[in-house]
Amino acid sequence: MAETVHDVIIVGSGPAGYTAAIYTARAGLNPVMIAGSVTAGGALMQTTDVENYPGFRDGILGPDLMEQMRAQAERFGADIRLEDAEELVLSGDVKKVVTDEGEYLAKTVIVSTGSEYRKLGVPGEEEFSGRGVSYCATCDGFFFKDKPIVVVGGGDSAMEEATFLAKFGSSVTVVHRRDQLRASQAMQDRAKANDKIDFVWNSVVTQVNGQQGATSVTLHNRETGEDSELEAAGIFVAIGQIPRTELVDGQLELGPEGYINVASPSQATNIPGVFACGDVADPRYQQAVTAAGSGCRAALDVEHYLEQL
Ligand code: NAP
Repeated sequence: MAETVHDVIIVGSGPAGYTAAIYTARAGLNPVMIAGSVTAGGALMQTTDVENYPGFRDGILGPDLMEQMRAQAERFGADIRLEDAEELVLSGDVKKVVTDEGEYLAKTVIVSTGSEYRKLGVPGEEEFSGRGVSYCATCDGFFFKDKPIVVVGGGDSAMEEATFLAKFGSSVTVVHRRDQLRASQAMQDRAKANDKIDFVWNSVVTQVNGQQGATSVTLHNRETGEDSELEAAGIFVAIGQIPRTELVDGQLELGPEGYINVASPSQATNIPGVFACGDVADPRYQQAVTAAGSGCRAALDVEHYLEQL
């Protein structure tokens, strides 16, 4: 595996990685993608309807969109491997990607490792993870049929999860730390119009309580200073993402919020031949379509870089 020096290796397989694969494959660069063994397809594999990806008038399911992108990349010859990247050695002219199955060498690397769920960091969260606490409504919502559910957060993800979970739970209570939601108006309106969804404002979860499974959360009202307990069998944490930079820490320059710095308007990082795209390099937009766009840019940057070698 390691003797061949590929033109490009793409690490990560969301909309950014797949788009980079489509473009580099069409350009004849024979990309190898390290797609992840269980995480292939990225965050959209765990969403339901994607209504704002252009080209799908009636929306498309997240996993279906990813499957389309994967098939499109493969159609042009991308070599997609369901392996986990464990180490990246990015300095020098030839880069090395070590996975759970072997080693790959390449002249360029595109990092599109995405982001992961931010945790609350309160007592009980880890203890009841998988026994009440979840970060994925589409994965776990069904387990809380006819049970009280709490969703933490005020962004699009929280609204999306609350709306989805209202199909299952006896009640859904959104707990948000401010009195205004961050979510887009359309997502807010939909959640607020749902009779099953209530809101608790200016409050944070300070503890998850339970025995075998979670039974309640302790809330702290930041305005009044009062603590209270709210019944909850399912606690869905939707408080944003943190970039997955663990493979590049100490190698690539990161911005103040921990995302990979790129030399805008390109996707070039501080190391020649290494490019980053998608959520891992985007502290601001984090949309499927912007991720795909940055994947295209990274691919074109790779082409240009290779031409100049
Ligand atoms: P987000 O927009 O960053 O929102 C995170 C929410 O969690 C905010 O309301 C924030 O409160 C709250 N929060 C953060 N840390 C917290 C903590 N420690 N304790 C309590 N609350 C905390 O994240 P997101 O909702 O996951 O969305 C991420 C990106 O994906 C966004 O760009 C979003 O538009 C996009 N997205 C789009 C769709 C869609 O269009 N279908 C669906 C999902 C996500 P504050 O408001 O006070 O900061």
